Amino acid sequence: MEKLIIAVATTGAVTSRNEHPKLPLHPEEIADAVYEAYQAGASIAHIHIRDDEGGPSMSLDKFARTVELIRERCDIILNLTTSGGRGIPLTDEDRFAHLVLKPEMCSMDCGSINFGNRIFENSPTFLRKLGEATIKANVKPEIEVFDTAMLTNAIAMAKEGLILNPMHVQFVFGVKGGMPATPKNLLFLLDTLPPDATWSVIGIGRGHLPLASMAIHMGGHVRVGFEDNVMYKKKVLAESNAAFVTRIVRLAEEFERPIATVAEARQILNLKPHA
Ligand code: ZN
Repeated sequence: MEKLIIAVATTGAVTSRNEHPKLPLHPEEIADAVYEAYQAGASIAHIHIRDDEGGPSMSLDKFARTVELIRERCDIILNLTTSGGRGIPLTDEDRFAHLVLKPEMCSMDCGSINFGNRIFENSPTFLRKLGEATIKANVKPEIEVFDTAMLTNAIAMAKEGLILNPMHVQFVFGVKGGMPATPKNLLFLLDTLPPDATWSVIGIGRGHLPLASMAIHMGGHVRVGFEDNVMYKKKVLAESNAAFVTRIVRLAEEFERPIATVAEARQILNLKPHA
C-alpha cells in the first residue's frame, strides 16, 4: 500500500472566527498554520484566502502573498482553491487566475450542488475552461466529489481529455446538500473510481474520523483542518490545524501505514515539475 498523504485545509471559505477564535485568516496566519501542519506530517496544503475582514476573497495579491510566505517556510505541495468563495461576483476566469502562481495542484469541484443554504455552482462551461487551464498550466486538479454524479462527470471529462489520468479524487462527505458520511457511500464510490486513480477523504463534522480510518485502512489518503472541522471531539475545540494532522499520524501508526513525505507525495500523485 502507498504511504499516507495527509492534506491540511487551514481556513476554507465558510468557517468563521465565531466558530474558532484561532481560525487563520491573514496570509501570515495561514502560512504559520500550514507550516505547523507540515511539521506534524502534512504534505499538501489546500489554500483559501480571505479579505481583511475575514470575508470570502479570490484576490490574486492575497493568494500571491500567502503562497510566497508558505514557500519561504517549506516545500509543501500547494493546492489552491478554485471554489470562488461564497457568492462574491466572479467570472469563470477569475476563479483560476491564480494558476499563474504555479501551484502544483488546484481544486476542481466537478458539478453543482446545494451547499448549506446556497448553490455551489460549477457549470459545465466553467469546468471545461478550468480543465483546459489546468492542463495548460501543468497543475494537477484535485477532483472534489460531493455527490456521486460529480465522479461520473470527472470520468467523462477525462475521456474528453479535459482531465489527465491518473486523476486524484477527494471525496467530501457530510456537507449539508452533499453525500452523508457513511461507509457504504465510500464503498459505492470506490467501485466507480478508475483503477489508476488516487483518492482521499474529507469528513465534515462527526463523519471525519470514521471515514479517515477507512481511508487509512483501504489505501486512500486523508484531508483534515478547520475548513472541514473545528471540533476535535464532542464539545472540545481543536487546539490547531496541526492537532488534526497529529491525530491522523497517530492513527496511521496504529494501522502500520507510514506517512508520505512531501517528496513521496509528489511521486504518488505523479506531479510533474513546473518548467
Ligand atoms: Zn476548499
